[in-house]
Amino acid sequence: MSLALEVNGFIRNSRKTSSVYDLNGLFPTMRSGMNIETTAASGMLTSLTLYDDRGQIYETAIESDIAAFWQLTEGLCTARTTYRAIKANADWQGVHAVGQRAIFYEINGGALPVVQPATVVCKRCNVVMTLEAATIDHRHPQSGGERQAARRVFRAVGLTQQHARHPAGRIIEERSPFKDRRAGFPGGSLSYLGVIFFTCIKIANKYEAFAAACIHHLVNLEPLCFRCNSSKGAWGY
Ligand SMILES: [Zn+2]
Repeated sequence: MSLALEVNGFIRNSRKTSSVYDLNGLFPTMRSGMNIETTAASGMLTSLTLYDDRGQIYETAIESDIAAFWQLTEGLCTARTTYRAIKANADWQGVHAVGQRAIFYEINGGALPVVQPATVVCKRCNVVMTLEAATIDHRHPQSGGERQAARRVFRAVGLTQQHARHPAGRIIEERSPFKDRRAGFPGGSLSYLGVIFFTCIKIANKYEAFAAACIHHLVNLEPLCFRCNSSKGAWGY
């Protein structure tokens, strides 16, 4: 079952929670005096509203926001075993600027016909290489990097108070319906909307599973040339 179905199902049944979480670095921190209330219709989650104990409303996620959240997070994660196929994914190609670029070859001063293969740029050394030659690197280590990966996905999706820093993240952010809704708790890192979605994941007990999936989110899968990718390994160059 998808995380979206599991989390939404859990939240739909819980109606209201007073355990509200922000992220402090990589760790959940509880915001006291806050609540999230849900509405549902025909078995579907239709809204999530963040408000304080005095009834002041901070933010409401409507049905289309909830759908967009899952589409931009879990929907852009590849399966652990098939992440190399991401090279054929149109979204990934857009985020990492895959395009046809002219390559000029010369042998002993004689120019060969110009070829225009699909190319991509190595994220470390900026060499232009054919897409075929590119290797795919997990920006965060597959073991231990899960929470960094999740935080980066939240930032890329526009659910943090700060904007995405990385070019790939900025491209995802541009498409996000959350990009202009940045207000959040002073001293916190998530926006109010981010708090709403993060709380749902946390109280459904799915933070670990969500973070593990984020390792394979397309914003965390970068093209590297073979030399840069192998230099990260034991034998270096
Ligand atoms: Zn390189």
